[in-house]
Amino acid sequence: MAEPEMMPEPAGGTRDDRVVPFQIEGAHVRGRLVRMGPAIDRALSGHGYPAPVSRLLGEALLVATLIGSGLKLRNRFTVQAQGQGAVSLLVADYRAGGEVRGYAGFDADAVAAAGPDADPFALLGGGFLAMTIDQGPDTEPYQGIVPIEGGSLAAAATRYFDQSEQIVTSMRLAVAEAFDRRTAEGAHWRGGGIMLQRLGKGGEEAKKALDTEEAAEDWARAGILLSSVEDVEMIDPDLTPATLLYRLFHEDGVRVFEESGVAFGCTCSAEKVANVLRLHGQEDLKDMVEEGEIRATCQFCSALYRFDPADFLDDREAGA
Ligand SMILES: [Zn+2]
Repeated sequence: MAEPEMMPEPAGGTRDDRVVPFQIEGAHVRGRLVRMGPAIDRALSGHGYPAPVSRLLGEALLVATLIGSGLKLRNRFTVQAQGQGAVSLLVADYRAGGEVRGYAGFDADAVAAAGPDADPFALLGGGFLAMTIDQGPDTEPYQGIVPIEGGSLAAAATRYFDQSEQIVTSMRLAVAEAFDRRTAEGAHWRGGGIMLQRLGKGGEEAKKALDTEEAAEDWARAGILLSSVEDVEMIDPDLTPATLLYRLFHEDGVRVFEESGVAFGCTCSAEKVANVLRLHGQEDLKDMVEEGEIRATCQFCSALYRFDPADFLDDREAGA
């Protein structure tokens, strides 16, 4: 079967680290597909977390990218999970322009006890998922908070739309360590996700159009097709986003819009870390001195910053 001309594929380039918006023709269904290779590998592998924690953080990064890339974002969109189980914290940032980063907080003993094949979502053990739109200085952040429930991070995340915008949303995510046959290197993290939303073109007319039986059938069919996607298809480096979308939605036809890039990136700097250190009292700072210096590691990218204690401690105490 011939493939439709939907999207020029970059010649010899990577198909990874892209967000592809699309629309199912005539079905009032829009969506976005994200495919991450080096971006998610850099964001995850630097931490050296146990595999189930990496998978969970990877899913949070995909959620942040799927939602953040669809916003008129000027600064940052953050997905933060506060878990009640072995994993107590996930933070995933998506910055305007497509940079992602994240970190996790967890009880190492409890994660180890659950084993390497533990269901990552179960490690959260409930709690809350906060999604925050930060448009930069002199603006109030907008935050939506939903319970961590529904059997997957994807299901929990879609409730954000039910609650904040009343847009019916469906999401699939896949994160795995995979070998790349072409480079014959070791395993790298890969991630893929697809989000579908039931949308009109805007306004009351569009809302009415969604009330028809046909529109309901369109949405149900799109959901069935989405649930038919195999995890491996979402992360397969040899299966382009365009081919995957065509495979899924070719009966209705799928239109692909301009894609955007995504990359790992951190905004930390010595100056920012120093400013955080200055919030500590003199006693705390003195306790932090190790081998004649104060060291601080960025939680997101693991960069190590080293400072001269004399820059932080009062003069009369620094020489003590
Ligand atoms: Zn950093």
